[in-house]
Amino acid sequence: MKYDFDFIVIGAGSGGVRASRIAAKHGARVAVIENSDLGGTCVNLGCIPKKLFAYASQYHETQKEAAGYGWQFSDAQFNWHTLRENKNKDIHRLNKIYEKLLLDNNVTIIKGSAAFVDPHTISVNEKNYSAQYILIATGSKAFIPDVSGKEYAITSDQAFHLPELPKTITIVGGGYIAVEFATIFNGLGIDTTLSYRNDLFLRGFDLSVRKFVAEELTKKGIRLLFNDHVERIDKLTLFATGRQPNIQDLKLENINLNLRDDHSIIVNKTYQTHIDHIYAVGDVIGGPQLTPLAIAQGHIVADNLFAGTKRTLNSTLIPTAVFCEPNIATVGLTEEQAREQFDDVLVYNSTFRALKHTLTGSDEKTFMKLIEDKKTGKIIGLHMVGSHAGEIIQGFATAMQAGATKTDFDNTLAIHPTIAEEFVLMR
Ligand code: FAD
Ligand code: NDP
Repeated sequence: MKYDFDFIVIGAGSGGVRASRIAAKHGARVAVIENSDLGGTCVNLGCIPKKLFAYASQYHETQKEAAGYGWQFSDAQFNWHTLRENKNKDIHRLNKIYEKLLLDNNVTIIKGSAAFVDPHTISVNEKNYSAQYILIATGSKAFIPDVSGKEYAITSDQAFHLPELPKTITIVGGGYIAVEFATIFNGLGIDTTLSYRNDLFLRGFDLSVRKFVAEELTKKGIRLLFNDHVERIDKLTLFATGRQPNIQDLKLENINLNLRDDHSIIVNKTYQTHIDHIYAVGDVIGGPQLTPLAIAQGHIVADNLFAGTKRTLNSTLIPTAVFCEPNIATVGLTEEQAREQFDDVLVYNSTFRALKHTLTGSDEKTFMKLIEDKKTGKIIGLHMVGSHAGEIIQGFATAMQAGATKTDFDNTLAIHPTIAEEFVLMR
């Protein structure tokens, strides 16, 4: 055979694992190369440990709120080492599951750092491997801007492994990670400050959502500093200032791959680079950095190459959640985007105290917004800040994907009493 493999995948993260497994299922001879733990960012340093920490951070408040329901707990203590070690154990379990999944599908796992020798050849630990097709799925890595005292700065990578929890922390940034870690650390009892460089954090989200979240986080005791600029760092500070494409070890200069200025890899609608047999998916191609997107893209590449399909991503809707407390979840357009793109939009807003909190004494509010295109009646945007918003919006995203109209929502019977019912009761 001309090549060692039909398909070499670089990176066994969200996109790479899916692409390797599906390609192998279609009968391709596949190798996946990984220089760290199987599962990538999401499993090891992202979604999963983050969500476990988010769960951990909620117990303190829940326990206080339980008093209104007659419960008294004494001696509540939080042990960081227990949480960190239990989280590590679970991730180790997931690493093994990923390994089994790949091996059961006859994917060859090569441990080490991959670099291009030429357009069909990859070297790992000084050994060369050739393939007919190559997929780059190397993800992204945290970026810290240059600032004096940078040595005291950590990223989310280290936040998952802190030897001890600090008493106070400053988080720099105003995106997903900054906001999620602000409520995580605050919930774990740390005096938390979030410093953001512009007027209001969560750029890109619906404006009412951003204002509402700022109020809710402030109520929880998180210090929000907007229009704030870091001049110097003197002690532990978490930088959550975005992530950059992870290409530094790939020796892309050996194949002259086309990159954007921010070093993301340029691909077409089928994730093909300008070199016909080289593909790229996930965080490394720029755009929204979300696991389900990387997975969907990896699956498309594998199907198109080895099952003869001509698939592209068949959705422009990208539902997403920020797992702060309360959650933010959203699908479709913000009100600002909707007003720009449509002649006539109807916007329905609702702010209320969830039934649960009538007895907890908590002042936490829930916010919901529904945006309708008046001409077609279609729902073009849904936004929520509240308990379990991620779970709730996931269901409604399916309805929107199917083209649901406001009339469909109105005709849907409510499940009472729930928070989610508000979306079908908005008039
Ligand atoms: P990755 O999953 O990062 O996989 C890339 C892999 O390539 C890595 O394992 C890396 O070690 C390997 N690699 C890199 N270079 C080489 C090389 N030269 N040779 C061999 N291997 C290499 N997304 C969500 O949808 N929901 C969330 O709740 C969420 N939470 C997040 C929380 C945090 C703190 C972070 C940082 C991210 C979060 N994300 C979340 C984003 C999500 O993790 C990424 O979008 C997703 O992992 C991208 O998948 P990928 O396949 O592109 O890259
Ligand atoms: P984001 O891109 O979401 O946010 C980066 C933040 O840092 C922005 O507020 C940005 O400000 C600010 N920033 C950028 N550069 C600087 C600088 N030089 N100085 C000061 N501030 C700066 O990145 P994150 O790091 O929060 O997360 C990375 C990505 O990972 C997310 O975009 C998301 O796609 C993914 N992720 C997804 C999660 C989920 O699905 N729940 C959870 C966590 C991460 P400005 O807005 O002004 O540009």
